[in-house]
Amino acid sequence: MSAAENRVYLSSPHMSGREQKFIDEAFANNWIAPLGPHVNAFEKELAVYLRVGGAAALSSGTAAIHLALLLLGVGRGDRVFCSTLTFAATANPICYVEAEPVFIDAEPSSWNMSPQALKKALVQAETEGRLPKAVIVVNLYGQSADIEPISSLCNSYEIALIEDAAESLGATYQGKKSGSFGYFSILSFNGNKIITTSGGGALVSNDPEALKRARYLATQARRPARHYEHTEVGYNYRMSNVLAGIGRGQLEVLEERVAARRAVFARYYEILSSIEGFGFMPEAPYGRSTRWLTALTVDPQLCGVDRDQIIDVLEAENIEARPVWKPMHLQPLYAGCKYFEHEAGDHWGSVSDRLFELGLCLPSGSNLSVEDQARVIKVIRSILPHSG
Ligand SMILES: *Cc1c(COP(=O)(O)O)cnc(C)c1O
Repeated sequence: MSAAENRVYLSSPHMSGREQKFIDEAFANNWIAPLGPHVNAFEKELAVYLRVGGAAALSSGTAAIHLALLLLGVGRGDRVFCSTLTFAATANPICYVEAEPVFIDAEPSSWNMSPQALKKALVQAETEGRLPKAVIVVNLYGQSADIEPISSLCNSYEIALIEDAAESLGATYQGKKSGSFGYFSILSFNGNKIITTSGGGALVSNDPEALKRARYLATQARRPARHYEHTEVGYNYRMSNVLAGIGRGQLEVLEERVAARRAVFARYYEILSSIEGFGFMPEAPYGRSTRWLTALTVDPQLCGVDRDQIIDVLEAENIEARPVWKPMHLQPLYAGCKYFEHEAGDHWGSVSDRLFELGLCLPSGSNLSVEDQARVIKVIRSILPHSG
């Protein structure tokens, strides 16, 4: 098959076949929408997997972040601290509730929120008398942030932690599941994530009352009355019963998906890590990364080509690759927001700026074939001046 016929994606949906029996069940009972038994079961299965009190299945991860902020009472004029190196979906809900985002740099050892930058930001906010109401910590590309120091800082200032585990379902931190650490944690089942419901998300918590309220807000905030009594603004944020069925089938194969993504990473690493100027995202010693996406930095001064040249040459061969997320503090939308750097004390400067400048994400799907991956590697090697 020619390259043009066979596009290689960064991360595409990977069905196991086990989803179909759940979908068939929903169809057989005409339990297509809304809610229903698959939603309840999916929520239980997620909570069991994560070893948490409960989960509310929602229409997206973004909706879950929005609800987490609402449940914490975040509103106009409040501050929310947020990892800068992330997808915009993490930060946008801060604007939905008219709060002020403050962005926190990454650290070189995990590419996740720098505890030292967070501390600096908290100390300064305290002197201003404007501590945040919540901190949103992101687990990037399948790897948990260093939760312990971050969570103990939040505890000492009595600030709620929201864990954005959209990219890290299946990862661990100190032996516990990623997505079980926040007062609220959020998951995403968008099409590019490690498991998918085509679109969906979940809010996770050990607080059953908060989850009850989340489900209420997510179903248009209807008070129990025949005529639907409303006392506050609600949202249409629940997951449908059909999609929850897909999620149940996907959850059964999560561990296989983690193993497959890690194997993809290992193959890239084996062949490309010796190239001067290539630096793969480190796996921090505190846990297991899912390697949701294989990410690396490409230093053009050392290897003779830059990240964008690699993306271009891959695109010409019908292979999708992308830069590392553009940090939120560099996005025009968030120009003017406060930003706190890690200050590594060496050439790094702002760590997230540097990761954005040099960072590359390679096709990493659990369904990426060994042959397609070999093609990706061959194309990359073909433009490196030194590796022939
Ligand atoms: C995908 C993603 C989200 C948003 O999830 P949706 O389900 O697409 O709304 C949030 N945060 C991060 C870090 C993500 O990668």
